[in-house]
Amino acid sequence: MLRVEEVYDTPEFSGAADVIVIGAGIVGTATAYELARRGVSVALVDKGVVGGEQSGRNWGWVRQQNRDIFELPLAMRSLRRWSELRDELQIDLGFRREGILYASADAKSIAQWDAWCRRAREVGFVSHLLSSTEINSRAPRGGPRYAGGVWSPDDGRAEPSRAAPALAEGAKRHGALLYQNCAARGLDLSAGRVSGVWTERGLIKASRVVCAGGAWSSRFCKRHNVELVAVNVVGTAMRTSVAANVVNGCFAGPGFALRRRLDGAYTLAVPGFGRIDLAPLGLKNALRYYSNYQNDIRKKLKYRLSKAWFEGPEASATWQFDEVSPFERCRVLDPKPDLEFVKVALDSVKRAIPEFSDMRVVHAWAGAIDTTPDLIPVISDVSELPGFYVATGFSGHGFGLGPAAGELVADMVTGAKPLLDISPYRLGRFTDGSSLKVPEMM
Ligand SMILES: Cc1cc2nc3c(=O)[nH]c(=O)nc-3n(C[C@H](O)[C@H](O)[C@H](O)COP(=O)(O)OP(=O)(O)OC[C@H]3O[C@@H](n4cnc5c(N)ncnc54)[C@H](O)[C@@H]3O)c2cc1C
Repeated sequence: MLRVEEVYDTPEFSGAADVIVIGAGIVGTATAYELARRGVSVALVDKGVVGGEQSGRNWGWVRQQNRDIFELPLAMRSLRRWSELRDELQIDLGFRREGILYASADAKSIAQWDAWCRRAREVGFVSHLLSSTEINSRAPRGGPRYAGGVWSPDDGRAEPSRAAPALAEGAKRHGALLYQNCAARGLDLSAGRVSGVWTERGLIKASRVVCAGGAWSSRFCKRHNVELVAVNVVGTAMRTSVAANVVNGCFAGPGFALRRRLDGAYTLAVPGFGRIDLAPLGLKNALRYYSNYQNDIRKKLKYRLSKAWFEGPEASATWQFDEVSPFERCRVLDPKPDLEFVKVALDSVKRAIPEFSDMRVVHAWAGAIDTTPDLIPVISDVSELPGFYVATGFSGHGFGLGPAAGELVADMVTGAKPLLDISPYRLGRFTDGSSLKVPEMM
């Protein structure tokens, strides 16, 4: 099991709050933190532990580079927020602005980066397209020759084992209540609007509820007939042995993506590849939007039939709120890593960086990534259920985006003017006849 920093619960269980946040990943903890520091009383509940799922399992890249143009303003705001949080929280989240470097031998990727850099510049983000000479002098020595690259010096990295716990700690300092091992089984409704949450420890009354349940959000929403379209894609990552400080920030090349960790090792993965652990709800969503996933995304996916069909976040069995729910049957979702991806990543990084010839994999793990058909998150109110909000479907980008997403949700929930345009993130885009955006880069 992957280790994350431990955060202690609030000792007494309270039956009321202004707002309940379901899910203590980076999005839920950032939301609870932003609400609590505005003086709102918040209860943050998680079926397992703070940061136990995606938010403690990701690569730790905090990037603006290559983000969808609709997502870029959120990413830019988030980078600023990451810097501020270190001072505000007085806890080291591991955030370092060391830049992100991509290298490629493939003309198609370079052309995509070039087009992206031009569009990003229009919204105020500067990143540098690198010629073959420039990338080969910047990339670690002794590896293959690259045809080009892109360098975003303002991007950063952070430690997944620390970030959500630090935000939860910060929320508690501002008075938020934290209950772990406390699944939200369903919403309490009165006169057609939200009036609380039925948890496994009892009812908590609240007039506003935010669902930030990551891979489980779709199923929670479905129980209330709210259509949230996402498919879980399992990504594999690994921690290497301690190795020379050849790459200080993040570096991706053919077949690998690498981040320097605070412990002197690297977090390593194969970019873009994943696995779908087949299950009824995910399958239904995937088939409905199959054409939206371009070929080069589809051919990087593997499919597996496993017990996830019956027990995973996308299984179909329903439940009553006074009985054990699927959420508490799986405290921490811990999918099997894919050993083929582990081998590809390690072989590729050794080819690219000869200094890493002795590198070993110390620990491999996986995490289920809640992926929307347009790869843009859902940060939205739910028009059919007044008082209910969702902040989910971060499609592999939520660690970096989390701090600003928390601010945006806090704006919505308190009725403040949102800090940026929220229309691209609205839930209604799946049902109001909008044609969904075809995903850009991952
Ligand atoms: C291998 C991998 C690599 C990634 N790399 C990056 C990266 O480098 N950069 C980046 O920006 N993003 C990355 N991501 C994506 C990023 O980790 C996620 O987008 C982000 O962590 C999502 O945060 P979250 O809070 O929405 O969800 P999670 O972190 O999954 O949190 C959801 C929480 O909700 C809880 N929960 C669910 N249902 C209930 C319920 N009914 N009651 C109570 N609690 C509930 C769960 O227990 C969980 O703790 C990666 C993801 C993976 C798996």
